[in-house]
Amino acid sequence: MSESSALSKKIKLNTGAFIPAVGFGTVCNEENRSWFKDVVIAAIESGYRHIDTAWYYGTEEIIGEALQEVFAKGEVKREDLFVTTKVWPSFYKNPSKSLDESLTALKLDYVDLFLQHWPLGFASDDNGKPEVPKDADGDIIFAEDFDYLDTYKELIKIYKKTNKVKAIGVSNYTVEKLQRLLKETDVVPVTNQVELHPHIPQVDLVSFCKEKGIIVEAYSPLGSNGAPNLKIPEVVELAKKYECSPVDILVSYHVAAGRVVLPRSQNIERIKKGFKYIDLTAKELKALDDFGIANPKRFITDPWGKNLGFEYWD
Ligand code: NDP
Repeated sequence: MSESSALSKKIKLNTGAFIPAVGFGTVCNEENRSWFKDVVIAAIESGYRHIDTAWYYGTEEIIGEALQEVFAKGEVKREDLFVTTKVWPSFYKNPSKSLDESLTALKLDYVDLFLQHWPLGFASDDNGKPEVPKDADGDIIFAEDFDYLDTYKELIKIYKKTNKVKAIGVSNYTVEKLQRLLKETDVVPVTNQVELHPHIPQVDLVSFCKEKGIIVEAYSPLGSNGAPNLKIPEVVELAKKYECSPVDILVSYHVAAGRVVLPRSQNIERIKKGFKYIDLTAKELKALDDFGIANPKRFITDPWGKNLGFEYWD
């Protein structure tokens, strides 16, 4: 992989291990699932070495089949890949069971990173069902006996007592929630995965994480379905300047700033193109942040996240 490819970049975690800066997002709509195995194989064969998945996505079984095929060819081994999965709030009491289900589906002995998907608990059964319990009015039924740190403390136990995870981290944590986590537990999460792109630069959260040695992972970097961020004028301008495509700018925006980025595509032709790495200057990175401060927009506004303390949830 050439130095000019964003897929070749790595970032050091607070455990000392390295994480490939670009991870393959594995949310997959129902209608794309019939060819999703080929999509995952194409991603790895095109140079992705980092897969971002979750119990909730329902794609782990297909990813597991794709990995078996890739390993059988012998060119990419398990240790060449960085695999992340996450525990969903319906398993808030028993992340260990969620992890075992994920490992079985992925056909792996360990994951490189295990995240608490949301600092939330849902009133589900022991099998994590329903995934999002709702009452007769359609409102989510949250667990009553829930403290988000209890789930993270279970992740710490798994990290310390088993060989099933190389590192642990969180997702969708605000600065306030991270502050309490750092005060009340003894394992600093390696990452905090949040929505991040030039429409929602979250500069305070980013600077807090940097100070504490927590790598920020940017989800929905293209603005999710339909990739609306490709049309941001500042992004288009930079793409013209560097003679690359807007998607290269949206990916490099994170990599140049020392963050992980998780783009998703189920289009094999797009996947094969990879991403040209553009070493954006500090001034250009700040201009992209400033665009988002002036034009804030969040694309992932799931109802369960509404009261977590994030700005612009509506
Ligand atoms: P993205 O922001 O990555 O955008 C995906 C969309 O962009 C798809 O419609 C895709 O279409 C399109 N796209 C991709 N590349 C191009 C291109 N070169 N040109 C034009 N369109 C393009 O979406 P997600 O919201 O899925 O975020 C990515 C990943 O982040 C997820 O898959 C997941 O792994 C993670 N995530 C984590 C969350 C969390 O709570 N921790 C929440 C949300 C996401 P096409 O398939 O046709 O290429």
